[in-house]
Amino acid sequence: MANNLGLAVKPVTTTSPEEIERVANWINTEEYKELNFKREALVVMPPHACQPLGAELVAHAFEGSLPFVHGSQGCASYYRSTLNRHFREPAPAVSDAMTEDGAVFGGQNNLHEGLENAIALYKPKMVPIFTSCMPEIIGDDLTAFIKNARSKGLVPDDIPTPYANTPSFNGSHIHGYDVMLLSILQTLTDGKKVDGRCTGKVNLIPGFDANTGNFREYKRIFAEFGVPCTILGDISDVFDSPLDGTYRIYPGGTPLVEAGDSVNGKATINLGPYSATKTFAWVKDNYAGKHQALAMPLGVARTDALLLAISELTGKPVPDSLKAERGRAVDAMTDAHQYMHGKKFALYGDPDQLIGYVAFLLEMGAIPYHILCSKGSKKVQKEIQELLDTSMYGKQGKIYMGKDLWHLRSLLMTDPVDALIGDTHGKFIARDAQIPLFRFGFPIMDRVNLHRSPIIGYQGAINMVTTICNTFIDITDNTCEDRFFEMMR
Ligand code: SF4
Repeated sequence: MANNLGLAVKPVTTTSPEEIERVANWINTEEYKELNFKREALVVMPPHACQPLGAELVAHAFEGSLPFVHGSQGCASYYRSTLNRHFREPAPAVSDAMTEDGAVFGGQNNLHEGLENAIALYKPKMVPIFTSCMPEIIGDDLTAFIKNARSKGLVPDDIPTPYANTPSFNGSHIHGYDVMLLSILQTLTDGKKVDGRCTGKVNLIPGFDANTGNFREYKRIFAEFGVPCTILGDISDVFDSPLDGTYRIYPGGTPLVEAGDSVNGKATINLGPYSATKTFAWVKDNYAGKHQALAMPLGVARTDALLLAISELTGKPVPDSLKAERGRAVDAMTDAHQYMHGKKFALYGDPDQLIGYVAFLLEMGAIPYHILCSKGSKKVQKEIQELLDTSMYGKQGKIYMGKDLWHLRSLLMTDPVDALIGDTHGKFIARDAQIPLFRFGFPIMDRVNLHRSPIIGYQGAINMVTTICNTFIDITDNTCEDRFFEMMR
């Protein structure tokens, strides 16, 4: 046996081709599926990331903000590279690079030196700090460390340092997003509430969402209404900045003054009921104006709900331009209905997106069949079940909470579907099952520009229908007999 360089190597073990084939076939069986679903002490291909990755996403989403990882450099590289690969943009963040001595003696020295260097070198306006697993395991006291840094004069008074504990052995990226956003808003709005003041703006909390096109779509919808809006953490320009020959370390982001004044807003809408839960609970107690939680606006009905909420909260009618857009979306969905109707889908993702996919598929007469959430809860399960119960197309839907993509593979091989909705990680099981993967989630690392293509709102519904139906038509064209290869589809 030879390696890639042609050198002879002696294998430690050998497996016969017959044995490889036997196991390859066995893992596609009902018997294996049953064993696979009995698995307790091992997770294989979990479709979620760790808390600090979510914290970093929202830490980038404010003006002049430099995300700061208190912990291991390798972890920090993982968050950054995942964001780089998804957006194909830089994700400038720093780490205080704790190593063995930090693990033994605590990471205060790393944090202090790191803060001093990062502020001197990169001149941020804000430094949100969050943790990787290591300082959480040894019990670093972030509150005391940051207080000591300030008392030593390592951080100028005008640079806010919101911070969040983001232990990755608990929760996932959406929880890290939530606690980091909460701390940023608590810090920026501290002392800014003024009795009787109203900015006249609607605050929008999008929740964990790595689609810059969605953020632009939200802004466009508010502009159509003529309603000023503050997006509480706006990544649209941060991760979709123009290539004009000049590198900017901090492009875009929600202006800090505007974020601070958001506490005096006319209203606040939360579109991330499962990824901004703690943030919105705090906002309801502390922000002026009205507060409304809505589902992520995937599909027509959920977009209707957002537009009606904006209208009710501001007293402005839904503009004719958006009414016309709704009609075009319904037309596009009706035109394409035949290509999705009755098709079975497997889908997985974060709760806010996952529930939205289910709603959208039901609107199209498609069947959400295997619905999987790796960090789901009974509440998520109940909400999905209630949604399924509203439609005849939901009757076959089965929900799997706390399962991973290796479980989903067993489902795809033993109880097949027509397509999979998820993120790039699903490509391996989609290939095994020989079905298309529709990449609407995060991260998408193997296709270009999908993060620029909105999936929310009426335009998002058109985009999803177009992508899905044209792929099914491509499959028909590529696989049909010659006599059925038609000009029209
Ligand atoms: S799970 Fe923990 S150790 Fe792994 S990348 Fe995330 S923070 Fe680092």
